[in-house]
Amino acid sequence: MFRSLLFGTFLSILATQTCFADKQQPPNFVVIFCDDLGYGDLGCFGHPTIRTPNLDRMAAEGQKWSSFYCAAPVCTPSRAGLLTGRLPIRNGMTSAKRVVLFPNSGGGLPAEEVTIAELLKENGYATGCVGKWHLGHLPQFLPMAHGFDSYYGIPYSNDMHKPGGVPLMRGQEVIEQPVDQRTVTKRYTEEAVKFIETNRERPFFLYMPHTMPHIPLYVSEAFTDESPRGLYGDVVEELDWSVGEVLKALKKNGCDENTLVVFTSDNGPWLSFRLEGGSAGLLRAGKGTTFEGGMRVPTIFRWPAKIPAGTLVTEMGSTLDLMATFAHLAGAELPTDRTLDSEDLTPALLGEGASPRETMFFYTRGELYGVRQGPYKLHLWTREPVRYGRPPIKHDPPLLYHVEHDPGEQFDLAAKKPEVLKQLQDAINKHIETVEPAVDQLAIPVQK
Ligand code: MG
Repeated sequence: MFRSLLFGTFLSILATQTCFADKQQPPNFVVIFCDDLGYGDLGCFGHPTIRTPNLDRMAAEGQKWSSFYCAAPVCTPSRAGLLTGRLPIRNGMTSAKRVVLFPNSGGGLPAEEVTIAELLKENGYATGCVGKWHLGHLPQFLPMAHGFDSYYGIPYSNDMHKPGGVPLMRGQEVIEQPVDQRTVTKRYTEEAVKFIETNRERPFFLYMPHTMPHIPLYVSEAFTDESPRGLYGDVVEELDWSVGEVLKALKKNGCDENTLVVFTSDNGPWLSFRLEGGSAGLLRAGKGTTFEGGMRVPTIFRWPAKIPAGTLVTEMGSTLDLMATFAHLAGAELPTDRTLDSEDLTPALLGEGASPRETMFFYTRGELYGVRQGPYKLHLWTREPVRYGRPPIKHDPPLLYHVEHDPGEQFDLAAKKPEVLKQLQDAINKHIETVEPAVDQLAIPVQK
């Protein structure tokens, strides 16, 4: 009797501690996506006074990518690219008329787009979104219309006030308005931990796009006036704490080994806010521009069962690639009826081969601004890192940089490398032929 009781207790402990850890099962995915965090804003990416021990450890236990690009240098198109594996020009999520979606926008990510969440849900995954959505706030565009089982967060940027203030939503309901932004990072973290606990018995996909460190900056009491970097540092150090809590929850629920966690940012730092904006480190410019500072983001992958610890990939990768990578690892079929811009990064993640991404196109405001192929990057157009408003600059001949020799994009090689210029121009011409016109979702006003 006693023995069987003991055995029963042992089994129940086993059941609560060992969740979905069968190596034969597909991995869980967690994507932690900061807002406007710069390339130079983490300890493990060289910041001298922002302390990020959890991310530093995540990098030591996982893999750092030093040439990883977001899909666009501003929020809405960047998110559309990550979740669909398609350049936002293909689905109308980048626009010459409006930079991003606003609380008076009537558009959003079109229903016919296939998101990572939809793909994984069809393959038996639990799917949750905790954080800033910004792909349309009307019911037909919210996370639960795009493959997520649950949603908790702010539907657009935290500086977008409409009467009543910035809303916090659960599912399709506003549950707090104006939201107390001082505690959003903390509350997102609690929701993420709960999601992991609830779904530990099955494969899951947790998409966690943080509201911070987008301006206006808010931080909870425990992190206020703590960082040597000031308020911006306080905010990033709380995000680092949040990452630590998510990793702890994975361990506690027995999911650590078989969960691929990706940490990255939606675009570069918002430099026009000066001390309140982040840093792109040695890269040129920031958010809103297609210079490296706007597009290259600090990125870490961690998956103890598969990714060799303490590794560095200097080849190109992109948030666009999460779609094909996750599909491959989950055994899911990618859609074949549309053009994808997504590469399967598995060989590089596992340390078995090179990154397959050889070319990256840079768009903003509905326009192709440039391309990188191999180490060379060509700019047809550029913008300076100022608050939205100044016209872009056209370059004829284009600017040409070797971004491995010159990551700060200081020394134009166009006159010295006509053959490279031609090669990149050919890549652009070939690419443009694959782009079909799409309805401009960002320019649609709210239908009354
Ligand atoms: Mg952003």
